[in-house]
This record gives sequence, C-alpha cells and structure tokens, in this order.
Amino acid sequence: MVIDIMATKKEDIKVITPEMAKIPAGPLELKWTNYKNHQKLVNPANKRRLDVIVIGTGLAGASAAASLAEMGFNVLNFCIQDSPRRAHSIAAQGGINAAKNYQNDGDSVYRLYYDTIKGGDYRAREANVYRLAEVSNNIIDQCVAQGVPFAREYGGLLDNRSFGGAQVSRTFYAKGQTGQQLLLGAYSALSRQIGKGKVKMYTRYEMLDIVLIADENGEKRARGIIARNLVTGKIERFFAHAVVVGSGGYGNTFFLSTNAMASNGSAAMQMYRHGAYFANPCYAQIHPTCIPKHGDFQSKLTLMSESLRNDGRIWVPKKLEDAKRLQAGEIKGRDIPEEDRDYYLERRYPAFGNLVPRDVASRAAKERCDKGYGVNNTGLAVFLDFSDAIQRLGKDVVAQKYGNLFQMYEKIVDENPYEDPMMIFPAIHYTMGGIWVDYELQTSVKGLFCIGEANFSDHGANRLGASALMQGLADGYFVLPYTIQNYLSDQIGVPRMSTDLPEFAEAEKAVKAKIDKLMAIQGKRSVDSIHKELGLIMWDFVGMGRTAEGLKEGIKKIDAIKKEFWTNVYIPGEANALNNELEKALRLADFIEIGRLMAVDALHREESCGGHFREEYQTPEGEALRQDDKFAYVGCWKYTGEDSEPELIKEPLDYEFTERKTRNYKS
Ligand SMILES: Cc1cc2nc3c(=O)[nH]c(=O)nc-3n(C[C@H](O)[C@H](O)[C@H](O)COP(=O)(O)OP(=O)(O)OC[C@H]3O[C@@H](n4cnc5c(N)ncnc54)[C@H](O)[C@@H]3O)c2cc1C
Repeated sequence: MVIDIMATKKEDIKVITPEMAKIPAGPLELKWTNYKNHQKLVNPANKRRLDVIVIGTGLAGASAAASLAEMGFNVLNFCIQDSPRRAHSIAAQGGINAAKNYQNDGDSVYRLYYDTIKGGDYRAREANVYRLAEVSNNIIDQCVAQGVPFAREYGGLLDNRSFGGAQVSRTFYAKGQTGQQLLLGAYSALSRQIGKGKVKMYTRYEMLDIVLIADENGEKRARGIIARNLVTGKIERFFAHAVVVGSGGYGNTFFLSTNAMASNGSAAMQMYRHGAYFANPCYAQIHPTCIPKHGDFQSKLTLMSESLRNDGRIWVPKKLEDAKRLQAGEIKGRDIPEEDRDYYLERRYPAFGNLVPRDVASRAAKERCDKGYGVNNTGLAVFLDFSDAIQRLGKDVVAQKYGNLFQMYEKIVDENPYEDPMMIFPAIHYTMGGIWVDYELQTSVKGLFCIGEANFSDHGANRLGASALMQGLADGYFVLPYTIQNYLSDQIGVPRMSTDLPEFAEAEKAVKAKIDKLMAIQGKRSVDSIHKELGLIMWDFVGMGRTAEGLKEGIKKIDAIKKEFWTNVYIPGEANALNNELEKALRLADFIEIGRLMAVDALHREESCGGHFREEYQTPEGEALRQDDKFAYVGCWKYTGEDSEPELIKEPLDYEFTERKTRNYKS
C-alpha cells in the first residue's frame, strides 16, 4: 500500500501518493463525474448475493444502510442504542450547509468548496472537499423529498441562516433540531428497508472487533465482526462481504464534551489495530459557544448552537474591575454600559465579526479569559448577548428563531437569556481526525470502509459549522453507494463464509480474554473516576493551547493512567449480562490509547493549524502559524503493536487548484 519516496529524509518516512488515495485525474469540477462514469457497478442479481455490515445508525450509518439496501445489497446494521433514532446525530442543532444559493447572495459550489478548504486551514484533500460541495445540493433535495421539515420563509421557500467562516447564508435548518429531523428522515428510509427485509437491524449491539480473512493472494480483507449483545452480554459473530463503519467521533476522550455519553472511539481503534491508518488524530474541534462547566460532578457539557452567533454578540467588559465585580457576583452583564463592553470578535475580525470560524472564536475567548476578563465565578466565560437583536427584531422573532435553545439554556443555568446575556465558554465538540480513507472511503484495509465523523476526510484541521451533517449524509447517501460497488464488483464470486472459520473463533477468543482480564482486576476505582482524570490531562496538556513540553508531560501522564486503569479499575456485575460499567471500561481502554495518539500526533506537528494550536507557532497577533513547507500533509499513524510507537506515514497535500493563504477573517 505504501512506498518509500522520501529516502532523502533520515527517518525514511513512507508516503501515500494521489494514485494510492485513488484521487481521479482531471479538472477539480470533473473528478467526481469522471469517477462515476468509469467505476465498476454490480448488477441487481449479484447485489442480492452480497452482504454488507454497517456499524452505526447516525446520519452517516443510517443513510448508508438505507441506501445500500435500497440498491439491493443485504445489510446488517448495528448500533449501541435501543433505537437507531437515538444515535448521537440526533443532538445536532444548528443546520446543514448546501450551495443552493437560494438567498442570491453569491453562493456557488466553488464558494462552498473554497470556504470549507480555507476553514480547514488548507489541511484537507481538494478533490474530496469539492465533491462534498458538489453533492451538498442533492442532500437537501433528498431530505425534502423524505419530508424533513426544514424552516421555510413566509413565501414557502426554504430558509437559510449564516454559520461561521462564510459570508453567505447557506445553512438549512429545522429550528434548533436539525440533526433530529434529518435523522428521522434517514430513519424512515432505514425503516422501510427493515420492513422489506433488506436491512437486519441489531440494536443494543456493540462491535468489539473486526474479523479479517486472507484471500487467495494472502491479502487480508474485512469479512465480519464480533459484537456483544449489550442486553444479554452474549458475544456473537457476523459475516459480510464488506464492513462499513460510521461510529462517530472520539471527542469523549476528554470526558467532558458536547458529545452523547455513548459516543466513543473504540470502533476506530479496532480498525487501527487491524492496520487501518489513524489520520490527524490531534485535530479536535473546540466549540466556542457551550455552557460553561459548573462543577466537579458534571459528566456532560451542553452546546449552545453556533446559529446563535447570527444574532448574538459576543463580549467581555473592557475594564478589569468590571470583570472582577462580575466574577464576584456583584453585578450582572446588563449593568455594564455599552461603552464599557468589548465586542472583541467584531473588533479583531471586522469582516466576519461574530461569525469567525470556531477555532478562531474559541482562541479569542480563551485569550480574553486568560487576561482576566472572564464573566462568571470561575472566570472562564464570555457573554453571548441578544439585547441588540431583541431591540432590532423584537422578542417574538428571536424566540421563533432560537426559542428551544433559550429554553434549554434557562433550564440548565437558571437564568433568563432574554434578560441577561448568556454565558458561554469553549468545549470539546468534534473530531476532524479519524480513520484514513481513500477517495472511495475505503480504509487502508481492503473491504473496510469508514464514513461520517469516524473518518478523517473533508474538514482538514478545523470543521466549519453545519458541515458535519453535510459530510455524514454525503458519505451515506451519495458517495459510498457508488464507491463501494467498485470494491464489491470484485467480490461477486466470493461465497458467504461460515462464522465457524478459525479467524472468527480467534477474534472471539481475544475479545472474551480482554473482557475476562478487565473483570478480574476488581480494583478500587470506578471507570468514570479514571476517565475524568484522563479528561483533565487531555484538557490541560492536549487541549486548546499545546506546547512540546506540555505534550511530553501529557504523554507520561497518559501512560500512568493506562497503568492505573489496567491494575486498579473496578467493574461490578457480570460479563454475561447487561453491564453498563463493563461497556464503559471497554471504551475507556480505547480512549486512553486515542488520547496518547492525539498527543503524539500533536507533538510531531510543529505548527499551528485550525483546531491544533501549538503555542510556539503563532503570529505576533496570536493567530495560528502554519508551516506549509514542512507540514502540508495528512499525518497517518500505523499501529505497530501494543508496546511500540506508531509509525508515521504521510499523505502530501499538494494543492493543484487552490492557492494556500494565511487565513484572513479581518478584511
Ligand atoms: C451538540 C451537538 C450539536 C451539533 N450540531 C451540528 C450541526 O448543527 N450541524 C452539523 O453539521 N454538525 C453538528 N454536530 C456534529 C454532528 O452532529 C456529528 O458530527 C454527526 O452527527 C456525526 O454523525 P455520525 O453518523 O458520523 O455519527 P453518530 O451520530 O455519532 O453515530 C454513531 C453511531 O455509531 C454507533 N456505534 C458507535 N460505536 C459502535 C460500536 N462499537 N458498535 C456498534 N455501533 C456503534 C452508535 O450507536 C451510533 O449509532 C453537532 C454535534 C453535537 C455534539
């Protein structure tokens, strides 16, 4: 799969070429069309003979499972939750981007492509991002046809709002429940296929390993999975001709995040251990508008949607003495007169104002709080203020647009955001890193595909708001259904295999041995207490501001946590029954490994780009300083064994169609 072309370098690092990444030749805007015109197809009779396992029922997994079944493949679909509808995607609030240009404000496929690649700090593949922008419009048509109730203007046309990193309004939304409505659309399509017997749905099942079987040439291919029935604890084996993983992101490595509690990185680690490269693990997104942490016994952070930055203005006091009085609870935000407020995003970035991308807004909030201008009792909060919007539009209009988000805020914070400005602070939200995939969304393991947030593609070093839903649905509805056929067309002669084969038996044995080892520890610490400690280390050493020294220290601490976990964790109950603590322990074992991989990757990437901010590499104004001559590549990590360091493999990002610039949101 990889060849050496950097022999001049001492380290002899391997490189992935565009051919290996299967990037089609030709002009940017014709690559996808050319691909589709020449890919291999599977005829209807053969589709019926092929089985595909899809892990996940979030927007990526559900759309893929429904589409593949609709096309005629037999699909086995798995999820942890008790219903596909409960996948983490349901939490998405703000919206989904598409280049429809309904507002006639100058949008186009190219502009969506450009904003996305620039927003990602020029660390994504050009061909993938262009394809994403191209299919964005199909997604909206597909979802409208399914009945997704996108917001409409008075005249009946679909409405749009603005999100960070763009000067046009291209975000389609359903109040603050866009993910939920899109997921219900995908779920309807999935249910139709379940009803027709084309999808066999396995809820409350967790994949614990992937099974690889060598073909006649000795090349290993994904041929099935080992999964645990979470209700009975039974370990089961499943065969398929290909495995597609849409298991979501690994943000919960930080313990506190905006992700759903069950979101995890274990499926990614299973792929990684079987040879799938883990790409850019250090690219994690910190979202600027979350409800600040309020105590030590908290296990979840809540996002206030980025859509709020359309009308909300972010500020802190200009005077330190006002900040101190706010921190002491002596005054409220509304007591500070207009002339004493510092709308620091509007001041620093006049062209984009409050709608700068998330990485920029998060760092700016941290900078103000680090200087002592924080507005709550911990000093770790800034204001998001709607008083202007309420004056300009009226309370009713604001309530119509954001009512459910305001209600959520009031329930959690016990303050009325119509009267007092909201308090917000950055929190871990999304992971741009993930399993490396080629243009076909195939990992470096044959027959193993990865979609949605679980893969690394399309967002580079920073994801723009409303682009994750776009990517997940693009992968599931419009990309994978084409590209997987290119692989499966060669598999039509492969008969269904027995799960009694030794490869399945060995994988199951290893899974059971791992569970037995964990159950036997019977130490003194709960899973959550160790996870919380890991989270603090991640936030302090691998968080918003990273340094070489801090990362090295972080790695040492993560190694110590690993030891503590494997010698002192306590898991009550039985392995052969419902056991929530065992589920969490299995996931934490992988979070520890991911945390370390994130730190290793962050340490090697001696530059700042997007969400990855190395304090040593910043401009005099505190902006991210990229090192394009050294780091314009995807950093892929290859597993080399339990006790050895991973191997770095590079996929150079040679920009053919777009000029790399320093990101500018000022003018
Ligand atoms: C609060 C919040 C708001 C957001 N708002 C927006 C927004 O407005 N716009 C936007 O574009 N993006 C938004 N995002 C990001 C977006 O929601 C996610 O990136 C996206 O939903 C991920 O979809 P997915 O299908 O890849 O994964 P998920 O929705 O996370 O689904 C993962 C699936 O995999 C299953 N799974 C995982 N591991 C296993 C396993 N081992 N075995 C079996 N099943 C497994 C789970 O059960 C689940 O079904 C938001 C994120 C958050 C946290």
